[in-house]
Parts: sequence; C-alpha cells; structure tokens
Amino acid sequence: MNEKKGLVVVLSGFSGAGKGTIMKHLMSTYPGAYHLSISATTRPMRTGERDGREYFFKTREEFDRMIEEGAFLEYATFNGNSYGTPREYVSKLTAEGKDVILEIEVQGALQVRNIFPDALLLFVTPPSAAELKKRLVARGTETDEVISQRLSISVGESELMDKYDYLVVNDRLEDAVRHVHAIIQSEHAATRRNAELINDIHKQLEEFRKEQI
Ligand code: 5GP
Repeated sequence: MNEKKGLVVVLSGFSGAGKGTIMKHLMSTYPGAYHLSISATTRPMRTGERDGREYFFKTREEFDRMIEEGAFLEYATFNGNSYGTPREYVSKLTAEGKDVILEIEVQGALQVRNIFPDALLLFVTPPSAAELKKRLVARGTETDEVISQRLSISVGESELMDKYDYLVVNDRLEDAVRHVHAIIQSEHAATRRNAELINDIHKQLEEFRKEQI
C-alpha cells in the first residue's frame, strides 16, 4: 500500500488579486477536496468576520506566547499586524493524506518552502499591473494613501513571484478556480512525488519476471 502524505499548498497573491474569492469558490466547487488552514492574527476583526472562521483573532500577548510555544509553522508581519499558521492542523491533515491550503503572504510562503521543500507554491495575479491598480482603486473604500501603501507592498511581492512554482492569472474567476484545481491534481501525479509507487511497480515486475524464468 502506498501511503501518500497530503500536499501543503501555499496560495499567495497581490492584495486585490482575488485570492480569497478563488479560495471560497475552490472549496465550494470541489467539496471535501481541500482543507483550508485557519491562521492566527493580531489584526482587528473586520465586519462580517467571525473568530475561528476567517482567523483566530489574538491579542499581541497571546500571539507572542504562541510563538514561544512553537505553535506556528510560520509567521510574519504584514501591514503592521502579525499572522501565523498553526502547526498542528497542517501536520495532522497532511499526515492523513489530505491536501491543506495556506492562504498566506510571501514571507510566510518562503518559510514554508524551507520547512517543506515539497510544498506547492501558487501565486495569484491579475493579468497586468494596470489591472491590479484598477482593482485596488475600484474597491472604492480606500484612501489614496492606503492604495499607494498597497501598491508598494505589491512591488515587494512582485520581486518574489519567481520563487513560486505556478502563476494563477485571475482574469475570469471560474478559469482561475479550475486552474488551481488542475495544478494541484497534476502535482499529485508528478513522478518525483511518486518515487515509492514507481519503486514498488518496478520491484513487483522484477518478481513476476523471476517467477516466469
Ligand atoms: P488580511 O488582513 O487582508 O486578511 O490578510 C493580509 C495578508 O496576510 C494576506 O496576504 C494574507 O494572505 C496574509 N496572511 C493571512 N494569514 C497568514 C498567515 O498565517 N501567515 C502569513 N505569513 N500570512 C498570512
């Protein structure tokens, strides 16, 4: 029996690239296929969010204690707030053969790559920088200052895009969702992820041949 571990899939992307929407649709289009890791954060809860659903909302003290206890797989600061991936959920589910998706920013993604060289890193981007700017502005709720702050974060992120395994261009939502699913499923079939199965088949065939002689 070939007991395969689940994949650790990291999904990052520019603010305004639509990664949250892609995630939501991925989960509803392919029910049960993926498990979403819920991060801890020190940022204040937004309207419509619920503790334990979007994030585990923590005080600075609680977050620091979790760091000391080694509870995080990775953690990083984004826009003045701390975010971290609880280690236990990811370890438990991947050990059970389930694919876990981490929707995290670039610094955290690179930490995950160091810990799990086999992690699959996907980066979501709009088709062009002009489109990204348009989407950031189109939200309409943000001041010019916030928009330019977001754009400078995006500049830094764009420098790390080539560290990712795949780009997901989010032009049409359904296409992007299908694309993410296809990439993850293809990765399961990658020969380098199936060394054990390849070896088993090879050994068994040799046995069969010996029996024939
Ligand atoms: P937001 O505050 O808008 O929900 O998230 C801000 C950024 O933090 C997003 O890029 C999001 O992907 C990232 N983020 C969310 N959770 C984590 C986490 O656990 N670790 C890291 N490194 N980034 C995270």
